[in-house]
Amino acid sequence: MEILVIGAGVGGLAVARALLAAGHEVRVHEQAPGPRTGGKAVLIWSNGNAVLHDLGVTLDGAGNRIDRIDALTSTGRLRTGQDIAHAASRYGFETKAIARRDLLGRLAAGLPEDLVRHGAACTGLIQDGDRVTASFDDGSTDTGDLLIGADGHHSVVRRQLWGDGAVRPAAFGTWQGLGPIGIELTGTHRHLMITGREGACGLMPAGGGLLQWWFDLRWTPGDPRPASPLAELRRRFGHWASPVPEVLAAAADGDVEFFGHHWNKVREVWGEGRVTLVGDAAHTMPPTLGQGANQTLEDAWVLGRELAGAGDPASGLRAYERARHPKISLVSRMARRNPANWRIPPLVGRLVPETSQSALLARFSNRLAAESP
Ligand SMILES: Cc1cc2nc3c(=O)[nH]c(=O)nc-3n(C[C@H](O)[C@H](O)[C@H](O)COP(=O)(O)OP(=O)(O)OC[C@H]3O[C@@H](n4cnc5c(N)ncnc54)[C@H](O)[C@@H]3O)c2cc1C
Repeated sequence: MEILVIGAGVGGLAVARALLAAGHEVRVHEQAPGPRTGGKAVLIWSNGNAVLHDLGVTLDGAGNRIDRIDALTSTGRLRTGQDIAHAASRYGFETKAIARRDLLGRLAAGLPEDLVRHGAACTGLIQDGDRVTASFDDGSTDTGDLLIGADGHHSVVRRQLWGDGAVRPAAFGTWQGLGPIGIELTGTHRHLMITGREGACGLMPAGGGLLQWWFDLRWTPGDPRPASPLAELRRRFGHWASPVPEVLAAAADGDVEFFGHHWNKVREVWGEGRVTLVGDAAHTMPPTLGQGANQTLEDAWVLGRELAGAGDPASGLRAYERARHPKISLVSRMARRNPANWRIPPLVGRLVPETSQSALLARFSNRLAAESP
């Protein structure tokens, strides 16, 4: 079959790999002018790493293995720890922190040079009998037997299928950076999750002397952006226990990015006819559990499997959506219910001891670790 993929992020490239391996003709259309180079680091858990392995992608020599995730209070007290190395030995695949550009580079390695057409954004699609035609903002069109929308959380393909307003802001936003922060943690395999009244902080060594850091703060879309985000983060979090002040002192202004958290209710059927969605286009969720890219990889793998076994392509797409719905809706609900996303009224926030907030966060993360791979 001729298959069009919209978007060359984690989902688009993973789907392309799965479908090319099954013998399909695949064309990927990406709006960006070239391969993505930013985006900081992501955590690829055992489940995502297992899919990558099946798609012929290895993370050997890239990123940093994560063996433990420790939850701390803002005063530095250890609340609980998760032994991630144990999961790795149980499931056979390590959990790794890796720069997004490196993950995309690994996913693209070995694919045909002309597979991805860069620089044209999909603006709409039409299904006509057994064919689907996508149109682009440069006036071009492309027609295939199937179309996969892998165009992320602002997805044009989803908007065409579901209409406007499906994705809504969640209660938090993330300020993050990835840089050469020279503290002891950067050289370890230990990931810290720190929570306090001011918000949450994550510190994740990403390999090559780089530390991924982020701060989650309450956010609504209308909030004004601070003139100097780092100065604001230092004001709010600078009094937390080490190593938070050291990280904030070493972080560079030019390295800081902001993402408002969003989510959508996961639908039981998310495509129509010969069109479906993968990744954030189908299930945008807050990044609090670090599962968005991992679930996107699982989508690609299941889509490849269901298409291979289907009598007709449209039923293969519906079988894929049915197969993914139970797990993805569980993970999405957990990501939203994660206490870091709760809109706690300030008075309650002051009354609930910070240690209880940290304990709740750890409880939810542990449940995910048990469910996920
Ligand atoms: C702050 C933050 C931290 C995160 N950390 C983690 C983590 O640690 N672990 C994890 O698993 N997940 C994490 N995630 C989630 C993860 O980034 C996403 O779930 C994942 O990138 C989804 O992949 P995707 O391919 O669906 O979408 P994307 O990665 O967004 O890719 C979509 C692609 O489509 C292109 N595109 C968009 N519109 C069009 C169009 N109209 N035409 C053509 N191309 C288009 C875009 O340019 C982009 O290249 C995090 C997310 C955020 C915001």
